Amino acid sequence: MLVLSTALRTLQTNMIPFSPPRIDQLIIDEVIDTLKSGWITTGPKTKLFEKKLTAYGGHKATLCVNSASAGLELVLRWFGVKEGDEVIIPAYTYAATANVVIHCGAKPVFVDINDDFNISVAAIEKAITSKTKVIMPVDLGGFPCDFDEINMLVNKKDIVTLFKAETDEQKQLGRILILSDAAHSIGGIYKNKKVGSLTDITVYSFHAVKNLTTSEGGAICLNLNNEFDNEEIYKYLNTKSLHGQNKDALAKTQIGNWKYDIVEAGYKCNMTDILASIGLVELDRYDKDMLVKRKHIFDLYTEMLSQYKWAQIPEYSNVTKSSSFHVFLLRIKGISEQERDEIISEIFNAEVSVNVHFVPLPMMSYYKNLGYKIKDYPKAYDNYSREISLPVYYDLTDENVQTVVSAVANAVDIVINKNHLTA
Ligand SMILES: *Cc1c(COP(=O)(O)O)cnc(C)c1O
Repeated sequence: MLVLSTALRTLQTNMIPFSPPRIDQLIIDEVIDTLKSGWITTGPKTKLFEKKLTAYGGHKATLCVNSASAGLELVLRWFGVKEGDEVIIPAYTYAATANVVIHCGAKPVFVDINDDFNISVAAIEKAITSKTKVIMPVDLGGFPCDFDEINMLVNKKDIVTLFKAETDEQKQLGRILILSDAAHSIGGIYKNKKVGSLTDITVYSFHAVKNLTTSEGGAICLNLNNEFDNEEIYKYLNTKSLHGQNKDALAKTQIGNWKYDIVEAGYKCNMTDILASIGLVELDRYDKDMLVKRKHIFDLYTEMLSQYKWAQIPEYSNVTKSSSFHVFLLRIKGISEQERDEIISEIFNAEVSVNVHFVPLPMMSYYKNLGYKIKDYPKAYDNYSREISLPVYYDLTDENVQTVVSAVANAVDIVINKNHLTA
């Protein structure tokens, strides 16, 4: 172990990484505290983290789970999504958004995006059929979607009439469910409200590369209207995340309380207190420290890149929206996908790590084989083919930002000049 981590460090000494987690003494101390407490699975720290997340997002109840993927799937299954149903999602997202729909036996219906990388509301409207049960918007890079328009759309009279309610939950809601994939956007703001309280249900991710990490983890933010008892749904989902066992480990430790029942063949995707202890430290300093730092990095990239004619700066705040500053989605004007790939190799040669968010799902083998075609999503393809995600993380210094910008500028120079000379 020690040999391996030392080897990795030597390999990467000069490399600017893409998004390492912020691990400092506060996090380490809190994890040690949990380990020493003897309570390492779901317990008091997870329950406290849930309460703090509810207060943070301004929604009604929060269930922590071991990933956003698990959280999204639990919600789809709670709503009764099954074979024959359709779920509308953007073509431009990570595979998790679509895979959970497949797990339920339903069909992901991909739609194209806007220039801002988020799902197009006009495209959603065209894709709605009598089979549509759920829409899953994704706040790409942390920039909130057009939530007023999306929420209004599913309440439109003709769209409500088209909705075929089959389960009790679907009958109670009486319309398409909006399930936000907020894997990127905890802390994002839309019209003075935080991501978490903007749609029926929102799911955060706390994966290692995300803004707020617990190493792996996720949270279901319940915000259903008053027709629903969000506390009851919390309890139901909690049981569903623990094999359908009606008492969790903490409840079973109470004297004489050993007996339990299994009420359904549930899943196993609870969060542990070790993870929650990392989350508690992260959440406590998230707005006042992490988001301030990330915004500073976004502003600095914007300022430095604005001098280049080829740079297309992503939108990350306007009068109604503010990003969580998760991914800096730079685009290079007028280049092809192949030129983008060449530029990325040159950037790596300069010892700077970059990434692409995302390869649209219709380009992935599994989804291609199901018959999806990228030509049906021209904006997704155009954004993808010119996109380069730049490093953003807590410990990135102003000097590092300068290094990244120089590496990108040199790479663009090399590739564009080379292609001009050979053309
Ligand atoms: C990371 C990510 C997920 C999945 O999150 P996990 O916690 O790893 O399951 C879902 N959607 C998007 C858009 C993501 O980037």
